[in-house]
Amino acid sequence: MTDLNNKYEAVIGLEVHAQLLTKSKMFCSCANQFGAAINANICPVCTGQPGALPAVNRQAIELGVRAAMALNCQIRNESIFARKNYFYPDLPKGYQISQYEKPFCEKGSLTVRLKSGEQKQFGITRIHFEEDAGKNVHASHGTVVNLNRAGVPLIEIVSEPDMRTSHEAGQYLRALHSILQFGDICDGNMEQGNFRCDANISVRKRGDSKFGTKVELKNINSFRFVEKAIEYEIERQIDLVEKGEPIRQQTRTWNSSKNITELMREKESAHDYRYFPDPDLAPLVISEAWIKSIRSQMPEMPSQVLARFQKDYALSEYDAGVLTATKELASFYEQTAAQSKNPKASANWVANELLGRLNAAGKEIANSPVKAQQLGDLVTRIDQGEISGKIAKTVFEEMFLTGRNPAEIIKEKGLVQISDTGAIEVAIDKVIAANPSQVADYKAGKVKLLGFFVGQVMKETQGQANPGMVNELVKKKLD
Ligand code: ADP
Ligand code: ZN
Ligand code: MG
Repeated sequence: MTDLNNKYEAVIGLEVHAQLLTKSKMFCSCANQFGAAINANICPVCTGQPGALPAVNRQAIELGVRAAMALNCQIRNESIFARKNYFYPDLPKGYQISQYEKPFCEKGSLTVRLKSGEQKQFGITRIHFEEDAGKNVHASHGTVVNLNRAGVPLIEIVSEPDMRTSHEAGQYLRALHSILQFGDICDGNMEQGNFRCDANISVRKRGDSKFGTKVELKNINSFRFVEKAIEYEIERQIDLVEKGEPIRQQTRTWNSSKNITELMREKESAHDYRYFPDPDLAPLVISEAWIKSIRSQMPEMPSQVLARFQKDYALSEYDAGVLTATKELASFYEQTAAQSKNPKASANWVANELLGRLNAAGKEIANSPVKAQQLGDLVTRIDQGEISGKIAKTVFEEMFLTGRNPAEIIKEKGLVQISDTGAIEVAIDKVIAANPSQVADYKAGKVKLLGFFVGQVMKETQGQANPGMVNELVKKKLD
């Protein structure tokens, strides 16, 4: 395969549909709410009743403009809503309101970091507004159309065909996801379909300037699956070209149990959606004054949070990168550090202990059994000498399993660090009495044995003695 990978190059362009975090739908006042009872959130506008007129949701426009700004796009002061005509049971109007010739913004870019450490910039062709369709729900008595999602606002972010590997595509998606989340533009929930990606892939011989025929991979709901599907698709296409067979323009999907892409439909000719400007909607005017006011309310972007963590908390770029991977994680870390007043130790506990433990348990930070205040409190108790770092790990495990507070666990299990000279001396005397030959060796000059005695005393006290004090007292006794 390596030879073939030197001979061929993949070309990848991504289209992302992101659901906007608005209170109501794009063109009516129905709630934009996931999980409501079937058809609880519908009205004449979003069900396409004759004569019902759409009205643009200003909040949706503002969130779209935020995305445009975060992605360095040129915003069009006057853009057009168009009807995209097609028939499907979940689309009662017979058309979807979208933007076609004049989207609200174009010509942006997104710079991402690759695993090589290198940064690469990818072009954004355009972003346009769209409304979502409904959903066919298969129930025991047949299929029902749930229109709660019909008319929910989306932005579609179309990239240039600038990616060359599955890793580049994956990193682009992760960076985009993070920007939309930090900007409170989209919640990014991929299971609920609020951030959906279509990947377009073609291959060509290295050095060719013309692109090959592309295949579109639809509806893949995890970053890892997108990467795997792209890898599979690149190899499938190279195989075909090597065999002298043509690449057919197709829409395919990822089968995650078989680890292959499968044909959904052939695209014999381009769809004719007969786009035309929607006569019910005036041109969308986004004035400079409005843009300015949206800019003034722009939330902190991931790159800004990363820089702030390095500066304010003295974290390494690596740690700051880990802790700003998602908005939930960044905010969890900040709450932990605020509680403990020890940002450095808090970073270690969140990035290493907690994330490692969550990972092992298959859990996300959002449903961590240990809350930020509790973890911060644990860090404080170490700093104040109430428990040692080693005991803290035992306490943490118990916190993780039960969700209880550190104070309760420390008290119940009697884990408070022993800082009482008398108690430590009793343990030392016991260890000395039990190891006469080591004592003799030490006195004869084998000072390296100090570590042995300290270890024995820690063992004797079940790890609860204050290690600094043990060190000092052992030395004093033996010398
Ligand atoms: P369509 O008309 O089929 O929707 P577009 O030109 O609008 O195609 O492009 C859709 C997406 O496909 C964009 O993200 C674009 O970058 C990408 N794309 C276009 N041509 C290719 C190609 N030959 N190989 C890979 N990706 C491509
Ligand atoms: Zn409605
Ligand atoms: Mg297109």
